[in-house]
Amino acid sequence: MRIQKILKQQEVEREVKVQGWIRTRRDTGTFSFLEVNDGSCLANLQVIADQNLANYDLEVRKLGAGCSVEIRGKLQESPAKGQEVELASEEITVLGWADPETYPLQKKRHSLEFLRSMSHLRPRTNALGAVTRVRSHLSFAVHRFFQERGFAQIHTPIITTSDCEGAGEMFQVSATGEKSPFFGRPAGLTVSGQLQAEVYAQALGQVYTFGPTFRAENSNTSRHLAEFWMIEPEVAFCDLACNMELATDMLKFLLRDVLTACADDLALFDKFIEKGLLKKLHAVIDNDFVHIPYTRAVEELSAVSGEFEYPVKWGIDLQSEHERYLTEVIYKCPVIVTDYPASIKPFYMRLSEDEKTVAAMDILVPGIGEIVGGSQREERYDVLVQRMTEAGIDTSEYDWYLDLRRYGSVPHSGFGLGFERLVQFVTGMANIREVIPFPRTPGYAPC
Ligand code: ATP
Ligand code: MN
Repeated sequence: MRIQKILKQQEVEREVKVQGWIRTRRDTGTFSFLEVNDGSCLANLQVIADQNLANYDLEVRKLGAGCSVEIRGKLQESPAKGQEVELASEEITVLGWADPETYPLQKKRHSLEFLRSMSHLRPRTNALGAVTRVRSHLSFAVHRFFQERGFAQIHTPIITTSDCEGAGEMFQVSATGEKSPFFGRPAGLTVSGQLQAEVYAQALGQVYTFGPTFRAENSNTSRHLAEFWMIEPEVAFCDLACNMELATDMLKFLLRDVLTACADDLALFDKFIEKGLLKKLHAVIDNDFVHIPYTRAVEELSAVSGEFEYPVKWGIDLQSEHERYLTEVIYKCPVIVTDYPASIKPFYMRLSEDEKTVAAMDILVPGIGEIVGGSQREERYDVLVQRMTEAGIDTSEYDWYLDLRRYGSVPHSGFGLGFERLVQFVTGMANIREVIPFPRTPGYAPC
C-alpha cells in the first residue's frame, strides 16, 4: 500500500505491506525507528522494528539511508507527536543495500547545486520529490483545463522543416552518415508548435499542443533550457483580448488546482525554498492582472532608468531586468504588456492600425519575468506577405501557411506558456534546472 493512502486513511489495526526507501534509522535499547519514504507523498511512514524480528541484529540494525525495503505489519496509533499512525512491523525484507560510505544522500540537507550533479539520485530528496509531484499534477491539470473547455490536443511535429522563431536557435536533425538530407531539405527540432497549431485551429477552432521544444540558445540563465516543454493553445475567432483572458483563466485555474492538490509539497517550498510563496500564489488568484501597453511600460521604466544595466527606450526588446522591475517593483503582481513594436516581434503577429505595433502580449510574473508570450496572428494575406518579405523570409517555403489566409481566413490568436517557468513560479525554485527531471543546458546533458 502506498504511504500517501495510509496516512490519508489512518486505519489503525489494518494489516499492510509497504515498499520504499529508508530515510533514517534510530535505535533504542529494544527496538528501532525506521523512517520510510516511497515517493507517493512528502511524509515518511514511521516503522517500529522490534528486536524480536528474525533479522533484527543481522539486517535491521544495519539499515541506513537509501536502502530499499519491503515491510509487512499492522498500523497502530502513534503515541509520538508529528504523526497519527505508525507501522508495527512483523516482517522486514531488505531488497537492496546502500553503502553508507558512498551513498551521497545522507541525512543533512544538501544544496540544490550539489543535487544537480546527480540527476539520477536527487528525486529521492524531499525537495526534488515534491517538485516532481507538483510538475506531474500541473501537467495533468493543463490537459484538464483545455479538455473541459472543448479544446483538441494536437501532437505537432518534433522534427520540423520550418523555423518559426529565429534561425540561430535551432538544432539540426540529420540521419547518421546521410548523403543527402533525409527529409529532402534541412530539418531541425521544433522551437515552437505554433504554426502547425494554427493549421488545426483553422479547422477545429480551439486546439492546444503541449510538448517538448528545443532551442540552441547559448545562454546560461536560470530561466532557459535547451530542451523544455511548452503549452501552446491556438484559438480561431479570438482576438488579443480573448487571448489574454484565456491565458489569465488558465494561470488562475492551474494555481487554484495545485494549491489544493499539492498542499503538503507547497508548504515545504513555502518554508524552505521561497518564504511567502503561498501568499504570492493566492494573491495571483485573487487579483486582476495589470494590463499595460508596451509604450506605457517604456515610459514607466524610463523614469527609473538608473536602475538598469540596459537603458530603456522605445523600440528595444524588454530585458529580464526590465520585466522583473515592472512586475516586482512597480506593480507587485502579474503584468500583461501588450502592443509591442512590430520591429522586435515575429512576422506572424498581427499589425495594428498604427502600423508600428503588433497585437502581442507577454505575461510577466514576479521572480521570473516572462512566463507567457502570445499574440493575435496576422490573418490578412497581403499584410502577412509584406511582413514576411520585410523579414527576409522566402514566402515560397510557407505556401501552406499562406494558404490558410487564402482560404477562409479568420482572426485567431494564441500563446506559449513555458511549462518549466510555470513550475518554477509554483515551487519558488530560483533555477529552472531544478524543475525538469533531466535538464539540458550548454555543456550539460549527463543522463
Ligand atoms: P525569453 O525572452 O525569456 O527568452 P522568448 O521571448 O524567447 O522568452 P517565446 O518564444 O515567446 O519566449 O516562448 C514562449 C514561452 O516559452 C516563454 O514565455 C517562456 O515561458 C518559455 N521559454 C522560452 N524560451 C525558453 C527556454 N529556453 N527555456 C525554458 N522556457 C522557455
Ligand atoms: Mn528567448
